[in-house]
Amino acid sequence: MSDCLFCKIVAGQIPSTKVYEDDAVYAFLDIEPQAPFHAVVIPKEHIASAAEISPENSAVIARIYEAIAKIAKAEQLENGFRVVTNCGADGGQTVGHLHFHLLARRNLAWPPG
Ligand code: 5GP
Ligand code: ZN
Repeated sequence: MSDCLFCKIVAGQIPSTKVYEDDAVYAFLDIEPQAPFHAVVIPKEHIASAAEISPENSAVIARIYEAIAKIAKAEQLENGFRVVTNCGADGGQTVGHLHFHLLARRNLAWPPG
């Protein structure tokens, strides 16, 4: 997806502050953090949103959660964290490449509103 912001970040065409990378997953600090620690965890493969997960591409979701557990250990988030995926217009999704917000280091309200 030549036109996709997060594909460009994965390709290094747009700079980002990397917090984790493996063959399938990339994670970087959010440019507009909503918590003292706010990373965006994405599949390297372009998947438009959570609505596009299928048996053909769902293996990467396990890889993303494995990565999140590694990041949480590396960043010492033992006090807890939240993982959020916004999907579609009502879900507040602004970038059309599946991503998981990893938020931590403050007490996060529930329900989120
Ligand atoms: P969404 O609103 O789609 O759930 O999340 C998109 C996230 O990407 C937002 O939290 C936004 O701050 C972040 N974001 C948008 N553009 C950039 C960018 O160029 N660099 C980084 N690091 N984050 C970005
Ligand atoms: Zn993309």
